Amino acid sequence: MNAKPATSEFDLIVIGGGSGGLAGAFRAAEHGARVALLEPHLLGGTCVNVGCVPKKAMWLAADVAARLQLAPTLGFPVQPAPLDWPEFIVHRERYIENIHASYRRRLDAAGIVLAPMRAHLVDANTIECQNGARLRARHLLIATGGRPERPDIPGAALGGVSDDFFQWRAAPERVAIVGGGYIAVELAGVLQALGSRVEMFVRGPRLLREFDHEVAAQLAEDYRQSGVRLHFDHRLVAVEADGAGTGAGAGAAAGVRLRGADGNASGRFDALLFATGRRPNSAGMGLEAVGVATDADGCIVVNERHETSVEGIYAVGDITANAQLTPVAIAAARRLMDRVYGGSQAVLDQRDIPTVVFSHPPIGQVGLTEAQARAEHGDAAVHVYRAEFRPMLFALADVPHRSLFKLVCIGEERRVVGIHLMGEAADEILQGFAVALKRGITLQDLRDTVAIHPTSAEEVVLMR
Ligand code: FAD
Ligand code: NDP
Repeated sequence: MNAKPATSEFDLIVIGGGSGGLAGAFRAAEHGARVALLEPHLLGGTCVNVGCVPKKAMWLAADVAARLQLAPTLGFPVQPAPLDWPEFIVHRERYIENIHASYRRRLDAAGIVLAPMRAHLVDANTIECQNGARLRARHLLIATGGRPERPDIPGAALGGVSDDFFQWRAAPERVAIVGGGYIAVELAGVLQALGSRVEMFVRGPRLLREFDHEVAAQLAEDYRQSGVRLHFDHRLVAVEADGAGTGAGAGAAAGVRLRGADGNASGRFDALLFATGRRPNSAGMGLEAVGVATDADGCIVVNERHETSVEGIYAVGDITANAQLTPVAIAAARRLMDRVYGGSQAVLDQRDIPTVVFSHPPIGQVGLTEAQARAEHGDAAVHVYRAEFRPMLFALADVPHRSLFKLVCIGEERRVVGIHLMGEAADEILQGFAVALKRGITLQDLRDTVAIHPTSAEEVVLMR
């Protein structure tokens, strides 16, 4: 019989208690592994505390605000009033605290040892906790995620990042957002709907560079109609202080102006947010000494089995160069633990990952954009189908916002390789169609499916 191991001996040590780390820890424990999890901050990591969850809460608040704006035009005798942020935040934080409590219960039930500390690698089987204690395990999983990054320009510290946004207690009157990716677009939509006057400063010629160009252009048009001012091809060189801000919170503490490469300064803003990408949390944790390879951006290099350059050390989630999405981190971690402890050989298929941008209205995308399909399959093979329409609620209220749905198909059989939805309910519509795309459906399969009327979703099966 084996001697009972010392408490510092585990089968698996998980570094980071965010989406990927928690999923890996739970799945390994289900397979019977003895697991220790290190997380110095709040359980749930970025997604639960400063990402998907509080963001979606703010998106829902903004959605309610937008519908309240429409209500009087439809005959409801209500006066739209500004959101009481502090009250809404009580609801948001209570929701998040319930998630923390649920994680704590599940960790206890699974027998996972939680150490609320940073970890540092000592060798391929040993980590050192912040308090000097050493833990050993046969396998290590690194899931330390990333953090927002400001551009390296003078005055950058005057601006906040997405983490700061979640500390705000009011909508600043005038907000500048730098960036044109997921976070910039999402926070611009939220703030404009909650009463701020928003201007976006985008270094490229369009929003959401990696999304379908037509869909991104239609979103830009909707944003303009909502009052968001868009500055494309803007090269920011400095941020300059200009008086006091509104005091809404970090990143809103000082008035600022943005200086462009052409020498011009913007108008004055009460708050500035940088949404210019994220940097992996890989520095200063002993990776180099142990031989775990990282790429030029600091991401841990993994193969499709999420193995690093050191045997027994694995990495998942935003610390790798995989798509920075919670379900990707979770799926990778679960498959990894099924391989390590469950005898499975399944790996995560990184193709055709559906994704939604919670803009107003939302965008959903799965598969290839039109440009990618043309590059991959040649112009002659690509067939594009579009539906542009005004959703019923907007038509009733006589609001100009339009939806654009697009299918990208290839070959004689018109296999569907891309689905791009921009408009009301796109976030909820996409998931089912993503299953269909992954199963290799053709345009005829969609046409053979009876529509559900009257919905926006029916446009996907009615495209000609
Ligand atoms: P994280 O969730 O970042 O967790 C990493 C954890 O590791 C952290 O808790 C950190 O404290 C801990 N850690 C770091 N260093 C150490 C160390 N040395 N020792 C121990 N622990 C350490 N994705 C979606 O799918 N949908 C969305 O709607 C969405 N919205 C987002 C909105 C925002 C504003 C942001 C910023 C992100 C959003 N994301 C969204 C992305 C999503 O949050 C991430 O892809 C996901 O959280 C990555 O999970 P992870 O486990 O890799 O890392
Ligand atoms: P993104 O990579 O989506 O966007 C970054 C934006 O900042 C791009 O427009 C980029 O321009 C621009 N940029 C980068 N550096 C500079 C600079 N120095 N000056 C000016 N602009 C700059 O990153 P985000 O920070 O928005 O989000 C990080 C990731 O988190 C996303 O990629 C996504 O995976 C995930 N996320 C997912 C969400 C969801 O699922 N709904 C929501 C929020 C985040 P360019 O395009 O020219 O490079």
